[in-house]
Amino acid sequence: MKILAIDEQTVPLAAPMRNASVAYDTMTASALAVVTDCVMNGERVVGYAFDSIGRYGKGGLLRDRFIPRLLAASPGALLDARGLIDPDAAVAALMENEKDGGHGERPGAVGLIDAALWDLRAKLEARPLWRVLAERAGRRAPGQAHAFDVYGSCGHFRPGRGTAELDGLAREVQAARSAGFSTIKIKLGGSNIDDDLARTRVALAAAEGARVAVDVNGKLDAAIESAWLQAMARLDVAWVEEPASPLDFLRLSKIAAGTPLPLATGENLFSLDDARNLLRYGGLRPDRDLIQIDISLSYGVGEYLHILAEFEAAGWKRAAFVPHAGHLFAAQAVAGLGLGMHESASDVSLPFGGLWDGAAIATGRAAACEAPGVGFELKNSLFQWLKPLVTRDRDSASVASINAG
Ligand SMILES: [Mg+2]
Repeated sequence: MKILAIDEQTVPLAAPMRNASVAYDTMTASALAVVTDCVMNGERVVGYAFDSIGRYGKGGLLRDRFIPRLLAASPGALLDARGLIDPDAAVAALMENEKDGGHGERPGAVGLIDAALWDLRAKLEARPLWRVLAERAGRRAPGQAHAFDVYGSCGHFRPGRGTAELDGLAREVQAARSAGFSTIKIKLGGSNIDDDLARTRVALAAAEGARVAVDVNGKLDAAIESAWLQAMARLDVAWVEEPASPLDFLRLSKIAAGTPLPLATGENLFSLDDARNLLRYGGLRPDRDLIQIDISLSYGVGEYLHILAEFEAAGWKRAAFVPHAGHLFAAQAVAGLGLGMHESASDVSLPFGGLWDGAAIATGRAAACEAPGVGFELKNSLFQWLKPLVTRDRDSASVASINAG
């Protein structure tokens, strides 16, 4: 097996919504395809990956540094004893001549390639990725149908909604409830207690018994922190997400010491180094808090397994791991690695919303996909961004044919 080319396309999301930290109208994401010389059932085998949303595309890092480095590696060094692509070996090749620390955007570029190689690997094995990941992690995968927990993420701020903001929020939460989610997360601003209480009460009413979690994206105003947390505790929200800036472990530890509410954080930490600091200094509680490290923003599956091991050695359970991302690769990882919950954008009209086309959610659980690989081909609106990466003629492709995207 040989990799012929790796193509990246930075796509505009152009979604008219925002959270307390960023807007998505100018947000971008990377679509990636790893094209091989393998043919199965008459079709060329391609590994795909699509970015996590919220940290912009990584085309520059991929095209300038990491794609050429992988294509320059000896093909044999990227294969395991069975002659199949070995994503862990590929990540080792990608990280050659890279200094420790200062992780920045690098983990997301490496993690995207890792994700595409896992899709490729699972397709070569003709197995769904979650089964392959279960085996990689030394877990025994169920023989037949397997389901995993999922929660709905919605309730962003919509510029232009004005006074109808609460009506729109209620409709989104109702739609998520109707879609089968039993836990639903909404966005709050973190700067005004009355506004945030109003949004949370509307969401709780619309959720009709489902749990409601709230996310302030690191923007909870320190001046109202204490009163805000007490108010949220009275509403019994499922969890408070990112109450402190992602790297402010001292503040996070003080918040954890002062509230009974579960806290969730970690989506903006991209390495074992950073996750270990969260474990050591964040003051989080294994009996209630949630760790949201994003697998493909954090060097990929191998690094994530090291992170899991560090937390498990400190008494944490896998049920506490709820990866940020909302995409299909993360769903496969949650199902295969036995993690707590998958985050899913509950608006299935978004290319990055929902699960595979037609996948049903019942009482907060979804069935794991049994198609080979991640199953991007089973989500039409997303696959439209991936398929064009491999439509050009590959017969003359060489290792130098990198699409400038
Ligand atoms: Mg969040």
